[in-house]
Amino acid sequence: MDLRDSYDVVIVGSGPAGAGAARALTGSGLRVLIAERFELPRFKMCSGIVFPSGRKFIADHFGDIPGKVMSSPELVRGNRIYPSIGAPSFDAPFAIFDAAFDAAEGLGAEGLNTSRSELDYWLCAQSDADLVDSCRFDDFELDDREYVVQLQHRDRPVSVRTKFLIGADGAISQVRMTAFPDFDKGIARIPNYEEFYLADIDLEPGWLHIFLDRSITGYFATAFHDDGKIQVVTGAHRQEPVREYFEAFRSHLEAKHGLVVKETLCSHGIGLTDMSAQKNYCLGSDNLLLAGEAGGFLRGGEGITSSLTSGKAAGEAILESVASGKPAIERFRELASEELQTCEMVHERISNAMGFNVFKRPLR
Ligand SMILES: Cc1cc2nc3c(=O)[nH]c(=O)nc-3n(C[C@H](O)[C@H](O)[C@H](O)COP(=O)(O)OP(=O)(O)OC[C@H]3O[C@@H](n4cnc5c(N)ncnc54)[C@H](O)[C@@H]3O)c2cc1C
Repeated sequence: MDLRDSYDVVIVGSGPAGAGAARALTGSGLRVLIAERFELPRFKMCSGIVFPSGRKFIADHFGDIPGKVMSSPELVRGNRIYPSIGAPSFDAPFAIFDAAFDAAEGLGAEGLNTSRSELDYWLCAQSDADLVDSCRFDDFELDDREYVVQLQHRDRPVSVRTKFLIGADGAISQVRMTAFPDFDKGIARIPNYEEFYLADIDLEPGWLHIFLDRSITGYFATAFHDDGKIQVVTGAHRQEPVREYFEAFRSHLEAKHGLVVKETLCSHGIGLTDMSAQKNYCLGSDNLLLAGEAGGFLRGGEGITSSLTSGKAAGEAILESVASGKPAIERFRELASEELQTCEMVHERISNAMGFNVFKRPLR
């Protein structure tokens, strides 16, 4: 798809935050661009579990998730938690953490196991936005209260004008760093590393297995059955060696949980931030809004729902701003406050279930 010279709204990023915003703007008559830096459907490091409240949000606002988006096993019952090496595990069904569980009538207490590439692509397609891939946001400047956005589209520099700009570009947000260059000095980056295996393992499918022992992770480590493969992930403080933790975690799975790797299929690294754990949000200014992880929205480990919800709030704030002439940030702060409270409540529930705040673990 070709780019226009100008849009009413430019959304950077085609994850759930971008999809939530685009969906809210659908049918408004506004010209909306979703600019995604990778080719679609793009890969996103994630277990792909849509929690019960996310299932309800998607059913209410997007419709039935198509079969091609689903992964196996289709239902995930919750977290199986291994507090420390040698201690017995315990089960924490998603209902313990899930903010909207009580309201998720008829949808069940389980999470849905999805392919993130397919899920996000389908969510974005449920809007009337122009979805343009291989289109990277680099920079913007303000000109007469409009944003002049610099993009790289298929290796060609392009500049487009827009009245509203939404940064939905994930945890390490270029939009946030461009608009608020000092903000990232005050937040911690959390490297995560994952490998996917064809493997045998003595862990029950249909649970997200969460390991907390400090010898194998800076925060928590996970093992998950996904579409016949085993996903193994660990995270670390930035100052700590994530790959060393990963090797220790893999050795632990081999020694205690029967992991036998037949083939390593792929590996990925990603950077997260501690914005949500520290209640240190960055929502934007004027008509520039930050949704999803770019703004710090994260319900513990449940990012898909939080990003969809905050993206929707950003889209709705823009609609109201068009009608009122007031800066969109004013309404976005109000609309997003409920989601921020939910994020904080879920963090508290997770801390209660685990006996400590897993997202604020000190350096070893
Ligand atoms: C290991 C792991 C497992 C997880 N498991 C789960 C889970 O099971 N369930 C759950 O709910 N959450 C899970 N999460 C959290 C969830 O993945 C995130 O919170 C969620 O994806 C955030 O959505 P988003 O839309 O804010 O950002 P993203 O999904 O990261 O999307 C941002 C998009 O912006 C694009 N982009 C970035 N920079 C630019 C740029 N400069 N120009 C153009 N495009 C750009 C990216 O390519 C990406 O497509 C997990 C996270 C990790 C790390």
